[in-house]
Amino acid sequence: MFEGIGKYKGKPIQLHIDENVKPVAQRHRMIPFHLSDKVEKELIKLQEQDIIEKVEGTPTPWMWAIRNPPKKNPEEIRLSSEIFQEVICNVVSGIPGVKNISDDIIIYGKSQAEHDNALDATFKRLLENGLTLNLEKCEFNKDQVVFFGVTFSKEGISPNPKKKYATLCEPLRRLTRQDTNWNWCSEQETAFEKLKYELSSDTVMTYFNSKHDIDILVDASPDKTIQKTIEFVRTGQWFKIKNITDLEIDIKELQALRSISGELVTYGDTILLRDNRIVLPSELRVRAVNIAHEGHQGITKTKAFLRSKIWFPGHNYRVDNAIKECSACQAVTHTKRIKPLRMSESTENRVLILWSFT
Ligand SMILES: [Zn+2]
Repeated sequence: MFEGIGKYKGKPIQLHIDENVKPVAQRHRMIPFHLSDKVEKELIKLQEQDIIEKVEGTPTPWMWAIRNPPKKNPEEIRLSSEIFQEVICNVVSGIPGVKNISDDIIIYGKSQAEHDNALDATFKRLLENGLTLNLEKCEFNKDQVVFFGVTFSKEGISPNPKKKYATLCEPLRRLTRQDTNWNWCSEQETAFEKLKYELSSDTVMTYFNSKHDIDILVDASPDKTIQKTIEFVRTGQWFKIKNITDLEIDIKELQALRSISGELVTYGDTILLRDNRIVLPSELRVRAVNIAHEGHQGITKTKAFLRSKIWFPGHNYRVDNAIKECSACQAVTHTKRIKPLRMSESTENRVLILWSFT
């Protein structure tokens, strides 16, 4: 089961297609002459490996020209993570001690026997379903594992220290270099405070235990602006914006949503989507930005991470604001290092600080 490319034998995967969308049939595109041989070979190989099938007779209404001749291994052509999530979840469902995120599977147990049973059962299910594993990516019999940036061990859950603390400590570590003068400024102070916070927040994370009292905090108040938008998406009567008198509805935001109304879809009575991302209610936005910022990956990556999951008007601005003074994020962004230029005190006795990009 550690060899070759698996072929899922379970029930066929259904791709839900919006019937209202006109199929796109791209014209045949010429492949650069020097590559046409390679492409042909790759297609034959994929066909032999049972990854693609030749379409006989009339072409399907959907056709996509090969834009970039395959550079990657066919193994790297992957299904979307949502499909993986569902397929793997179904394959391992009901086995105690097994969880998956997308195609990553974690197997655990309180004792060696529990762990071994879970592992056996998982192998059996994968075999039955025709799925294979990449042995190089497997780790067996560990007393701690890093799974999606979080370390799991018998002590509990902690953020993957390798990933996070290195960046956080950078301003402090810089001071210890031989050719550097000891200079504790605001950057070091911020890093120190952050580190303190991160270290103490780790200790409050623990495994879920159904025997403990659990509080669940749910924000159930409806977002009136989103509610109104859902109504307009359904009725198409956006012109009614001008009649709105409810002060709890953010007219500016409504207008921003109107400008992208063609991309908005409703799901049930309460969920608004832009493409496949949830338009987040305003109460949750600060929290979402904070979660996206947690890994301190810098402005660009934080924005990209946020955008991959959710959307709301002005989210770029929110991220900019949340991160612009974070020294941990600036330490990972090498292109724009910010140096403060101190100006003389103004008449009102305030210090003016300008920022210059070098
Ligand atoms: Zn940061």
